[in-house]
Amino acid sequence: MNSIYSYSLEELTKIMLAMGQSAYRSKQIFSWLYKKRVKSFDEMNDISLSFREELKKNFDFFLPTIDVMEKSKDGTIKCLFKLRDGERVEGVLMHYVYGYSVCVSSQVGCNMSCAFCASGLLKKKRNLTPDEMLGQVLAFDEILRKDGNHVTHCVVMGTGEPFDNYDNVLSFIRILNSPFALDIGARHITVSTCGVVPSILRFGKEGLQVNLAISLHAPTNELRDKLMPINKAYPLEKLIPAIIQYGNDSNGRRVTFEYILIKGVNDSIEDAKKLERLIRPTFGFVNLIPYNPVVENGYERADDESVALFHNYLLSKKVKSTIRKEFGSDIDAACGQLRAKYER
Ligand code: SAH
Repeated sequence: MNSIYSYSLEELTKIMLAMGQSAYRSKQIFSWLYKKRVKSFDEMNDISLSFREELKKNFDFFLPTIDVMEKSKDGTIKCLFKLRDGERVEGVLMHYVYGYSVCVSSQVGCNMSCAFCASGLLKKKRNLTPDEMLGQVLAFDEILRKDGNHVTHCVVMGTGEPFDNYDNVLSFIRILNSPFALDIGARHITVSTCGVVPSILRFGKEGLQVNLAISLHAPTNELRDKLMPINKAYPLEKLIPAIIQYGNDSNGRRVTFEYILIKGVNDSIEDAKKLERLIRPTFGFVNLIPYNPVVENGYERADDESVALFHNYLLSKKVKSTIRKEFGSDIDAACGQLRAKYER
């Protein structure tokens, strides 16, 4: 049986029409699910008893459950969620001055095999369905609601490659974004990709204005090939034009480049110079990320001094750049670490 939380409004409308209902039914159901947050069809008292029975036969209210929860001193909450089939994924809630952001996983494991990443240590087992991504957001939203707060931002930046699970991620984003559901503005939603070029181009044409983050991490094909196997399929001379195209298609949205600084690997001033030249035509921002060491691969975090020099070089060239604030360093908040700990 499918969870009623797995459909965008457009998809649920099609289902309602196919079940002989008016299109309006889907809006009613959305309102019960996402505005009133009911957990059963029995509570939907503006829907006929007989149709409620029909709904019960076709859909359930399954959402991922919280298996492990770790709270950091800085307010970060990391959860290991248990899915219907017993698989586990991580989601993280972060408190910023501007609101509350949830970092969502999009797959169980990941096949991208980036050399520095803990997620790839466990190969992809399967894609997450929209309700499994949404459930991560709803779980944190429920926690926040107790204090009168709510989730305001979402980044698809947890375990998995969102563009290796395109259709489910798109339905999930449409539910987040729908005024009849969570009503999180597209500009408050970010999808992070390792650079799947055809999907970047397709995503630009969806008519959303979602932020795109590109995990770049290297300024040359030579180095990027070593760190990120995806670069062999979609090298920089394909990636950069696709990013420019995305900006044009999505109403001038500028991309963010994520750049992990790894000691002695990609953190020199030479690297900064090459990076600046590479991304200049995109007008993108650079988010410098102090590397979170993963025991298994031997890479080390760049020194504070080289991070500062790298950052200052970009600023001196008028490239907008920030050093990412770290959350939850006292808990296993880095990518894939909590799940890896429990799978070991
Ligand atoms: N597959 C997508 C989203 C998941 S990874 C992507 O590649 O963007 C989310 C971000 O965390 C990526 O930028 C990734 O490169 C980065 N990351 C992975 N492992 C990390 C680590 N140990 N320390 C810091 N950042 C890491």
